[in-house]
Amino acid sequence: MGASDDCIFCRIVAGKIPALRVFENEDILAFLDIGPLAEGHTLVVPKNHHELLSDVPEAEVEAMTRHLPRLIRAVAEGVGVEGCNVLVNVGRVASQEVPHVHWHIIPRKPGDGLGYRWSPSKYPPGRAEQVVKRITAML
Ligand code: 5GP
Ligand code: ZN
Repeated sequence: MGASDDCIFCRIVAGKIPALRVFENEDILAFLDIGPLAEGHTLVVPKNHHELLSDVPEAEVEAMTRHLPRLIRAVAEGVGVEGCNVLVNVGRVASQEVPHVHWHIIPRKPGDGLGYRWSPSKYPPGRAEQVVKRITAML
């Protein structure tokens, strides 16, 4: 899909909106998030416009993700942390605000207070098997 003039990340890719670029090739652009959750918070976007990660054609995924390990290492070493959260919000309900696929690379420090409310639950008997059936039926 081509660049969309109403899409803020397409406009950044096209150089119509400034961004602090950390890496670029023909497929992706990585730049600093304007509202960082931590110093070095970086966004990685494909240059092609796709709204959701789940919309991306399989043939394009490899080129989008190939440099993630190197980018994660560079961000972590660059800001001096031992780990990062790497996440993609898929859809508004999952807090995706910009409708152009992007990976967040978020440097983490002990005690930084970032993180999800991660409250594990338990499946009642038989429910997990039903859920597996419903998911696999969609593949
Ligand atoms: P989302 O909630 O869609 O997963 O994340 C969107 C991210 O894009 C947010 O972290 C936000 O700070 C960042 N962002 C939104 N607009 C701009 C912009 O114009 N420039 C940059 N560098 N980041 C932006
Ligand atoms: Zn776009």
